[in-house]
Amino acid sequence: MGLDSKKAIVFLTPLVKQFIQNYFSAPNDALMQVALGGEKVAAHLRLYVLGLLWISSIILCFFLDDIPFELVIGICAGTIAFCSAISVLYLSKKPTRNTLRHFLICAFDITLISSTLFFFALVGKPEVAINSMVVWELYLIFILATGVYFDTRITISISFLALLQYLFILLWVNHNWDMANYNPSQSNLFTGISWYVQLARLALIFIAGLITVGIVIRSRKLLMLSGTDTLTSLENRRVFEVRLEQEIARAARENSTFCVGFIDIDHFKKFNDDWGHASGDKVLVIFATVLKQYLRKEDIMSRWGGEEFIILFPNTDKQTAHTLLERIKTKMSENPLPISNNEVRIYFSAGISEFPSEQQEASPLIDLADSRLQLAKLAGRNQIIINS
Ligand code: GH3
Ligand code: MG
Ligand code: MG
Repeated sequence: MGLDSKKAIVFLTPLVKQFIQNYFSAPNDALMQVALGGEKVAAHLRLYVLGLLWISSIILCFFLDDIPFELVIGICAGTIAFCSAISVLYLSKKPTRNTLRHFLICAFDITLISSTLFFFALVGKPEVAINSMVVWELYLIFILATGVYFDTRITISISFLALLQYLFILLWVNHNWDMANYNPSQSNLFTGISWYVQLARLALIFIAGLITVGIVIRSRKLLMLSGTDTLTSLENRRVFEVRLEQEIARAARENSTFCVGFIDIDHFKKFNDDWGHASGDKVLVIFATVLKQYLRKEDIMSRWGGEEFIILFPNTDKQTAHTLLERIKTKMSENPLPISNNEVRIYFSAGISEFPSEQQEASPLIDLADSRLQLAKLAGRNQIIINS
């Protein structure tokens, strides 16, 4: 392989990775938690939008002497849509992380719109199928609504589904009727086919998908920033609390044990006073890096605030969590940090609590670890306490 192709691979690999990460990855756990709320919001919105359309089409009947056939079809489709919206609302009372369920709900909405359009053609109204106002526009609304799941994969696949289904209707109608010269006798609202209009409609579906993906990517970024500590790049307390709740639910389901470790750097105020705040910041960054290096991939670490860190050790008992923290302690005390041309040692104290043997709820679990941390401070600092 030539040097240029190697350079190209080195250059392109991170770009491709970033592209996949942006467009084809599932939302992370904390985002998923927000998306669960999104499912409920989507279910309510679906009910209101479809209910409004359904009721307004029924009210319209009272003002018309001659009820057009397309309105009757619209009301029938609206009835099915409204009943499905009630079922989806019921389903959303038990939110799920099941991406397939989210996808199927969105796919059902899109397919219902397509089926209604297709049905117009089937009953001899091809001009309504391809020129419908109100029903076709629902494609755009439901593509935008996929954004509440924060999952670009859902938005992209649903947009393509809408594109394919509408394209199929267009081609099918054009194949079975001479739409270029079509002149419906009674309708003064709809005409034959204008390919400019149809291309614009296909482009609009694509654009709606693109805009929604853009909004999802920006929202993910925003959520990630709001959940990340700027100094250490660790997740912050808010995200940790979400993760702890998730771990409690998982461990209760699987009957497993996990631990919470609360860490506080010793005499950090004095360190700041002696070496300056900038050096203090440097220590916090180094400490977070050591945590990331020395803990396991599955451990969840977070900056609780100030010089305090909190760690969740999944599937771990107190003794093992203790050993893991001791390893970090040894690493910190054996390797002095280079601060302003001096070598400074950093010590910390910690407390550990265990689920479910000691506490079964989030707050008491953290409080117990914190109270053991305070015992470690009282006992002279630079130690880890796992019993009280
Ligand atoms: P102890 O051993 O009892 O924990 O004593 P301590 O001095 O570590 O604890 P104390 O709560 O008295 O002080 C915490 C210090 O941490 C005070 C504050 O200036 C410092 N601190 C908190 N956040 C930051 C930060 O982001 N950067 C820096 N450099 N210092 C911070
Ligand atoms: Mg403190
Ligand atoms: Mg401290």
